[in-house]
Amino acid sequence: MEILHVSAECYPVAKAGGLGDVAGALPLYLNEAGHLAKLVMPMYRTKYLYSHSWDIVHKGYTNLGNRWFEFTVIKERTNELGFDLYLLDINGLLDREKVYGYDDDTERFTAFQIAVLDWVTAWQHQPDIVHVHDHHTALIPFMMGNCYKYVSLRHIPTVITIHNAEYQGWMGWDKSIYIPPWDMWNWGRLDWNNTINPLASGIKCASRVTTVSPNYLEELKTMSNGLEALFEYEKGKCVGILNGIDSNVWDPQTDKYITHHYSVNDFEAGKAKNKMELCERFNLDFQKPLISFIGRLVGEKGADVLPSVIGDSFWHIGRRMNFLVLGSGNHHTERELERMLEQASGDYAVYIGYNEALSHLMYAGSDFLLMPSRVEPCGLNQLYSMRYGTVPMVRRTGGLKDTVIDYEDEGGYGICYNHTSTGDISQGVFRAVELYRTKKKLNANRETMMKLDFDWKTSVQKYIEVYEQLIK
Ligand code: ADP
Repeated sequence: MEILHVSAECYPVAKAGGLGDVAGALPLYLNEAGHLAKLVMPMYRTKYLYSHSWDIVHKGYTNLGNRWFEFTVIKERTNELGFDLYLLDINGLLDREKVYGYDDDTERFTAFQIAVLDWVTAWQHQPDIVHVHDHHTALIPFMMGNCYKYVSLRHIPTVITIHNAEYQGWMGWDKSIYIPPWDMWNWGRLDWNNTINPLASGIKCASRVTTVSPNYLEELKTMSNGLEALFEYEKGKCVGILNGIDSNVWDPQTDKYITHHYSVNDFEAGKAKNKMELCERFNLDFQKPLISFIGRLVGEKGADVLPSVIGDSFWHIGRRMNFLVLGSGNHHTERELERMLEQASGDYAVYIGYNEALSHLMYAGSDFLLMPSRVEPCGLNQLYSMRYGTVPMVRRTGGLKDTVIDYEDEGGYGICYNHTSTGDISQGVFRAVELYRTKKKLNANRETMMKLDFDWKTSVQKYIEVYEQLIK
């Protein structure tokens, strides 16, 4: 099968979160399973672009409403990522350093989707499946099925994967002129609550919908930022498929970002060396358990409760642990976390920003990884932490519930709690400190986690099943 992935992110070209990791791995593992997967994404001005060689494969001219623009598609020459990687450039819209966060994101991603379909229409052959990801590319199923100029693509099945349903790409009906001419009788396929809702449209129009964990799919039926009824209605074509880990990038034996490699056979010594490096860098006490947080500092991740959890833990449990936070996002939370340094330096450190290398060192060198998420579609952090022998401390939600079993339950290894509240999380911190004291139990948990199979090879088979059902 030939599958074309369309995504706003792809590691290592441009990544803002888990979508980047998945888009960088899924096509590779599909290819390894004997299929032909390709990926097209916007040509942001990132380091990857300038450090690789490219061939121009297509030039086109199209429009977003009454704004006409030229676009260019380039292809990475060496196939370095293990699949055909295409970048699509639109001057004035996509030539930016960051992936998201611009006032004209609606125009940027709508123009990108139109240009992608113009390009695919010009192919000499057609892909068997078009697979889109999240709201930035979710208008594609509608456009393929309804726009007159894409009538030749109408029969191609589409799949949409929902990595995060909180963001839906809402745009007013005044922007409907952006979409190439279509049969206006079908306006309901774009609409949700009197606005154009690209994510809702993707769910309505795609042949199949996947979410990044089975439990997240269940949760979406009761909590999906306004789309609950739609998920309930469309449940027949939805399936939850857990994300995997790309072992080429995330393996403590070969990780290119860490100096002290280790495996399940020598993790105690290996983790200690990485922890020492972290503690020296952030002036933390090596003897104490190190509890880390990595992620976007937003409400979804429960980042706003971190300052009170840290303060509360020091107050009630004593200074018996270290905390280390890596992330960026909400300015208020960033400032609060920085202010905590005044009262807790020596036992607490924070790095505000995005740092891929540091995140790898933290997965390797931390004892525990805190994830008090309110919403977690799959969660990759806990999968990485387990692969690196770091005990995840998670709220029972979304993919965290699918992947982490409390160490006091049968076959368990992690620490679980029910609410994103200071009390519940601090109780988890207390249990972490206690677990750290019983080294034998801690190491047994580490060994169990490191042996768990969250490989993409397993998950990719489920995507293949979805594709096969569509092209039968
Ligand atoms: P999200 O909802 O942000 O996509 P995921 O758990 O699916 O959450 O994926 C998060 C990914 O982003 C992981 O690879 C994590 O290590 C990475 N990440 C998040 N914040 C940072 C940061 N500040 N620095 C480095 N990596 C980060």
